[in-house]
Amino acid sequence: MDFKIPDQVKEVVASIDKFIEQEVDPVKKQYQQQLTNDRYFYDENGLYAKETMDAIRKVRKKSAEAGFFHMFADPELGGSGDEFGPLNMVLIHELLYRKHGQDLLTQHIFPIGLFTDGLTPVLKGLKPEVKADILPGVQSGDTWLCFGLSEPDAGSDIWNLKTRAVKDGDHWVLNGTKQWISYAPYSDYAMIFAITDPEMVRQKSGGITCFLVPLDGVTCVSDSAIPLLGNLGGDTGIISLEDARVHEKYIIGDVHQAYKTALDGINLGRLSVAANCVGTAQWALDKAIEYANERKTFGVTIGKHQTIQTMIADCALEIYAAQNMVLHCAWKVENQNKSPVKELSMVKAHATEMTQSVLDKCMQIHGGMGLTNELGLEHVWRWAREQRIPDGTTEMQKRTIAKELLKGGTSFL
Ligand SMILES: Cc1cc2nc3c(=O)[nH]c(=O)nc-3n(C[C@H](O)[C@H](O)[C@H](O)COP(=O)(O)OP(=O)(O)OC[C@H]3O[C@@H](n4cnc5c(N)ncnc54)[C@H](O)[C@@H]3O)c2cc1C
Repeated sequence: MDFKIPDQVKEVVASIDKFIEQEVDPVKKQYQQQLTNDRYFYDENGLYAKETMDAIRKVRKKSAEAGFFHMFADPELGGSGDEFGPLNMVLIHELLYRKHGQDLLTQHIFPIGLFTDGLTPVLKGLKPEVKADILPGVQSGDTWLCFGLSEPDAGSDIWNLKTRAVKDGDHWVLNGTKQWISYAPYSDYAMIFAITDPEMVRQKSGGITCFLVPLDGVTCVSDSAIPLLGNLGGDTGIISLEDARVHEKYIIGDVHQAYKTALDGINLGRLSVAANCVGTAQWALDKAIEYANERKTFGVTIGKHQTIQTMIADCALEIYAAQNMVLHCAWKVENQNKSPVKELSMVKAHATEMTQSVLDKCMQIHGGMGLTNELGLEHVWRWAREQRIPDGTTEMQKRTIAKELLKGGTSFL
């Protein structure tokens, strides 16, 4: 294993930095009031304000045009994932979030797409005519997607889905409610996972089908956001499906076989989220070290106090361990034929718990300043706290890890 950062990664990160400076910074300047003040970021209903939406859309389109937004997506879908393996992907995510984490996470402006709202691998299952129709818009950043799996009674327990799809001629009729769906209020289409064979679901052998459903306000609606963690609005929403008629050509992949499809998208997401956590934790530690070398109490800089040194060292221990786990897991994904199930779960659980723990200590090092929203630490802490729930909670990851170990998969190499 070679732990040197490849030149290709350094070059890409430098290009993204330049892109941010040349294309993103002017947008941030133009929409400064909306992007930096929660009161203006959301409208009175908790949805992105019009100007916020304009800013986010602008950056997404520019980034798609520059080739960054879908740089890790499958080439079959028009992405450049063949140029960057999982190892390069995690390194780029980590370096990007170390430098720009605060802006990305507090202003929701992402030069690199998330796995669910752009060219997710799930889309490989689209029928050719639908692909031809939908993909150009997604590639250009005009069309937004969301990933509609969770429901009020089915988060961790996916086999407890209630949304049903019943065949009616060459259409399917969908009924149900999806909840916590990232970007649902802002998306053009939702990938909706629905039960098509209850008996298969009861036996946990399949029976779930994925449909591409237009969020056009006619077929189905998502017009409210769920505010989380003290935010005045939110990204996640509820999708209501009431006799939503969807032509069978909008089925993604095979009928009854979407359970595996769902996991395919989520696995890739777990790795990039973990890398974002490592980068974000480093961003916070960089800030804390700078502060510890400046702030004086009792006549000396606080970095001279042993308790502060211990907190800094503890952050470093946690980050270094998580960083190496992420790299090793990415190396496994890249070099082994089988998906490293328990390692992906370990990485997701450990990196998300780590980033919140590090953020908390870095806020503590900043004293009262750490609690203000001036430094961004508390806002990023809120993001870090969130990460322990989506894409499989920490407890569900531990359940998977234990199951794999009890089945005999006890090697970590
Ligand atoms: C910010 C955010 C974005 C999200 N984005 C999306 C999205 O885009 N698309 C989507 O489909 N979903 C999305 N989700 C939903 C997310 O995947 C679920 O919230 C998550 O899976 C947990 O489900 P739940 O909230 O129903 O909690 P529950 O499943 O009800 O869990 C409640 C508690 O019980 C624990 N628990 C449950 N079962 C077990 C068990 N067997 N063993 C041990 N502990 C257990 C959990 O860990 C948790 O602590 C998002 C959620 C959030 C918060």
